[in-house]
Amino acid sequence: MERIQAIKGMNDILPSEVHWWQAVETTAREVLESFGYREIRTPIVEKLELFARSIGESTDIVEKEMYSFPDRKGRWLTLRPEATASIVRAYIQHNLQADPLVQKFYCIGPMFRHERPQKGRYRQFHQIDAEVFGIEDPMLDAEVMFMLCRFLERLGVQGVGLHINSLGCRRCRPDFREALTAFLAHRAGELCPDCDRRRHVNPLRVFDCKVERCRDALDGAPELQDYLCPDCRDHFHRVQSYLSDLGTPFELDPRMVRGLDYYMRTTFEVVTDRLGAQNAVGGGGRYDGLMKDLGGPDLPGIGFAIGMERLILLLQQSRSHSGRVPDLFVAVLGDRALREGFRLVQGLRARGIAAEFSYGGGSLKSQMRRADKLGVPHVLILGDEELESGKAPLRNMSSKEQVEISLADAETALMEYLRRCS
Ligand code: AMP
Repeated sequence: MERIQAIKGMNDILPSEVHWWQAVETTAREVLESFGYREIRTPIVEKLELFARSIGESTDIVEKEMYSFPDRKGRWLTLRPEATASIVRAYIQHNLQADPLVQKFYCIGPMFRHERPQKGRYRQFHQIDAEVFGIEDPMLDAEVMFMLCRFLERLGVQGVGLHINSLGCRRCRPDFREALTAFLAHRAGELCPDCDRRRHVNPLRVFDCKVERCRDALDGAPELQDYLCPDCRDHFHRVQSYLSDLGTPFELDPRMVRGLDYYMRTTFEVVTDRLGAQNAVGGGGRYDGLMKDLGGPDLPGIGFAIGMERLILLLQQSRSHSGRVPDLFVAVLGDRALREGFRLVQGLRARGIAAEFSYGGGSLKSQMRRADKLGVPHVLILGDEELESGKAPLRNMSSKEQVEISLADAETALMEYLRRCS
């Protein structure tokens, strides 16, 4: 019979790799909560309209990448492609501005985009998402980026850089858009068909295009920074000086526009040269008009999302982490020893010792091989003879030395021995 496989681009996270995920999640929670963020969990499915209105009709995500489908009543639903829109929706729906403590949120979970899968790009992927509402001060922009860098540092990620830009605001961006449209009109013949269409509907998107000839065509294009109004210029300048005060290195990247329409003013990305084409590990920016556009109060917002798959790929390159190695393996020989060993393992676990066991026994050789594979430092060898004598050997797997453990109160004896070794 044909075997059913997982959907292309949607991955199982197996027990052998789940520790990476747990380590990233634990560190994320610790860092985010120390900066005053609180967790929010929103549904994975939302009305299509939420994403179309927030991300922008003419973005790649909305045009090509969303998993949307009608439900049984013909209402269009979408598997969330990102978290910001859902969090803003929840904030408005539950009137959370009435509770001034709840202004910083984070969310960890799966997102869905119908992209062409390759290393670091999947159809179901996971993000750690952070959002702050109600604060327009550039000090917050700097803090958000500082926090993102602190998080990566805490994890030990290497080979990443922070790139920043300002996209201006609703007052100054139209001037830039006009200048860019005029510039692109002269280069129309050199653009790929997608960009040729984009230059009419959403010309800033052309900066996102990965096609070589579009990149060349953008040589000499106008730069956003030359079009910023005095307020945006001042905001961006202050973001940079606060980042410097915090000792966070950054690079200006005047072409970074990001793929979502709601961004304005500060945008940023953490990039790496270690993941091939998928060079963005995380990114975000300010979206001061989004809350109002979605029918809520006119509150500013800023946030970012980190791609967990890419982060874990980087971590795997930066350091080795094999998860929790068991403290002890109990090898057994004979039926009585099997039952005694089983009981002992459960007792040790209840007292916080990571004990392992070969259910069903097997030969001593195969049990030792398994213990070796797990990297367990100590193996207790329990046979019917040992049970008779009330003593069993505990083998140190690297030195091969053995000590005798009294079985009268084996749990306590083992715990004391392991404590002395650590
Ligand atoms: P975005 O929401 O597009 O700003 O993306 C934020 C981060 O999510 C990116 O920097 C990536 O690390 C990650 N990401 C976005 N799309 C994908 C994808 N299809 N597969 C894996 N990670 C992704």
